[in-house]
Amino acid sequence: MSSTVDVVVIGAGAAGLAAGRALGAGGLTSVVLEADARVGGRAHTEIMPDGAPFDLGCHWMHSASLNPFVDTADAFGVRYERREGYGRSGFFRQGVWVEDVEVAAAFRAMNERQKSVADAWSQGLDQSVFDTVERDGPWTEVLDFYDTLNTSSDVDQISIGDLVSYNDTEENWPVVDGYGALVSQWGAAVPVSLNTAATCVQWQGPGVLVETAKGQIKAKCAVIAVSTGVLASGDIRFVPELPTEKQDAIWALPLGNYNRIRLEIDRAVFPDDVTERVVVEREGHPPIQISLGAYGFNCAIGIVAGRHADWLERAGTDASREAVIDALCYVFGNDIRSKVKSDRQSAWRGNPFVRGAYSTAMPGQFHQRAVLAKPLADRLFFCGEATSTDHFCTCHGARMTGERAIREVQSILGHPA
Ligand SMILES: Cc1cc2nc3c(=O)[nH]c(=O)nc-3n(C[C@H](O)[C@H](O)[C@H](O)COP(=O)(O)OP(=O)(O)OC[C@H]3O[C@@H](n4cnc5c(N)ncnc54)[C@H](O)[C@@H]3O)c2cc1C
Repeated sequence: MSSTVDVVVIGAGAAGLAAGRALGAGGLTSVVLEADARVGGRAHTEIMPDGAPFDLGCHWMHSASLNPFVDTADAFGVRYERREGYGRSGFFRQGVWVEDVEVAAAFRAMNERQKSVADAWSQGLDQSVFDTVERDGPWTEVLDFYDTLNTSSDVDQISIGDLVSYNDTEENWPVVDGYGALVSQWGAAVPVSLNTAATCVQWQGPGVLVETAKGQIKAKCAVIAVSTGVLASGDIRFVPELPTEKQDAIWALPLGNYNRIRLEIDRAVFPDDVTERVVVEREGHPPIQISLGAYGFNCAIGIVAGRHADWLERAGTDASREAVIDALCYVFGNDIRSKVKSDRQSAWRGNPFVRGAYSTAMPGQFHQRAVLAKPLADRLFFCGEATSTDHFCTCHGARMTGERAIREVQSILGHPA
């Protein structure tokens, strides 16, 4: 494969596909390179043996009224649920279900925590969540866990800028048929060269030269749509090296981790009035969230994040499966163990084409999202969830940044169409 195009896009996740779609509509010639054998990146749905779609990556259309994927889902007839919040959660704490009145106290603690974070930010402090919020409250561990689910990193690793700057309309709509399936249907119109990893981007000018194992591509500019995990790994060599400012931004926005561990289990083992999901707290174990019988399927899906997710992923699939089964047994009794049939798990840290879950601005580094997003020399354009300043960590945010990158490209190359 050797060719000359106007624009080469590296990566066919939501950001790269959005770029490819915008280029297709705009009349510039382009090619989209994808290292993996499939498109979608962190948007990936697999169909389980019982027909259940299982999202290994994104599942919720966050901030739905601002989320362009809602219209896309309507256009493709992809099913999702409209709801406020995330639905009903139960909390199983040190051997008992938490009473509603105590759950109300947890919400009050969450509001207090948000206020502390907002106050610190308004004073110009960019510091960690750990250094900002109450550390000794009865709900601190659970609220830390929620912040870790939202950012995929632990609270000592998260800038409070990420918490205050995220544009959250509190409408979180799950894609019943799979968010990954939605993204791949939407991206199907984009011609993508699969199994084509970019290994080197020469951008000394004029234009760029991108090397892949299948040949070289010459272009007027490149759109870089890979994760910060991939950028930090050095898997793509830049010649000349990226300027220090850009490298610092990449290092300041590392990916955390977040994995889904799905067990196939007869949902009749759960009581009829059980909550949609349970957060399990046990002495000596990090909290774990388990969704129970999602959409009527026979399954329980454990969710782990941050260092806990890294630890379990490294410990292996058996250990991860046992962690979810142990937590289920703790809540529902030991009979559960013999009812688990099979499991399927994500392992995002080990995925060589992503290398983690989603980006977190390190304490003191929130401003680096805007730095990462800046084009270089009218030849390199950056997109992907980490480059969003208000919808980072999300699939729709990634899409918006891909569209933004092509507006930037068009401001340089024009609109031939
Ligand atoms: C477990 C999990 C749960 C999540 N839940 C949600 C959720 O509920 N809602 C939500 O909105 N978001 C969620 N997210 C985040 C969301 O999935 C991501 O923010 C979004 O999909 C990122 O898209 P992207 O295009 O920026 O990057 P990616 O999806 O990482 O796309 C980058 C692409 O580049 C490719 N690539 C890498 N290296 C090369 C190379 N050298 N050459 C060519 N191609 C290369 C990769 O294979 C990949 O396809 C979740 C993520 C995870 C992991």
